[in-house]
Amino acid sequence: MPSAFSHAVAALGIGALFYRPEIPKRVWVIGAACAALPDLDVIGFRFGIAYGDALGHRGFSHSLVFAAALAALVVWVGFRRGVSGMRPTTLWAYLFLATASHGFLDAFTDGGLGVAFFAPMDNTRYFFPIRPIRVSPLTPRGFFSERGFAALRSELPWVCLPSALLAVLATAWRRLRQPA
Ligand SMILES: [Zn+2]
Repeated sequence: MPSAFSHAVAALGIGALFYRPEIPKRVWVIGAACAALPDLDVIGFRFGIAYGDALGHRGFSHSLVFAAALAALVVWVGFRRGVSGMRPTTLWAYLFLATASHGFLDAFTDGGLGVAFFAPMDNTRYFFPIRPIRVSPLTPRGFFSERGFAALRSELPWVCLPSALLAVLATAWRRLRQPA
């Protein structure tokens, strides 16, 4: 995985596409949390679930079905009364993209097994043909090691920079469309 930090940054970059000043900030915070959440599947290692299992790391929790279901659950439970500046379907779309971006980024990493994008129907693991992102250690201790910093360094050009660029372009586009 890229680090939880980079997954959150990607969600904020995607959020820029949906940004409106009246939307409460908690929407972006929840989007960032949704983007980091799939890696909670590493808990499965403690319970004897193997990496390659359907519920293993980068399995179901990294799939498109999971992203769709999590987004629906959050809209349903967390935003029952709606949210200002966003229709429920738009909020769902943002949360879906934020969560799905996790597996998307993982498929660009250079280690571990691929991502089960189509679980639970198909547990095949996928990587993209280019994998420039160094895989981030799974333990907090590893994260603060030399390997963790190397992973973070590889995430700067491949995750943080495109996210920032997306935010800048989305903001410029919004300003252009605003009547003078
Ligand atoms: Zn992951």
